[in-house]
Amino acid sequence: MQQPIVGFHQDEERHWVAELACGHNQHVRHKPPWVCRPWVTTVAGRQGRLGMGLECLKCDRGEPADRP
Ligand SMILES: [Zn+2]
Repeated sequence: MQQPIVGFHQDEERHWVAELACGHNQHVRHKPPWVCRPWVTTVAGRQGRLGMGLECLKCDRGEPADRP
């Protein structure tokens, strides 16, 4: 299910995590050469993704929300 991004934070390992409108969190790692998301490493890049949709597998699986 596509869910819009409403914010970002970093986890304890400093990986970026997208906060989705559904209440789920999803890692948006930048780990070249396997996963290349250079936009996630800059403020402007992250702000530019706000409101864009990410496929939320947790919604598809009916998992409880990660955030209140
Ligand atoms: Zn979700």
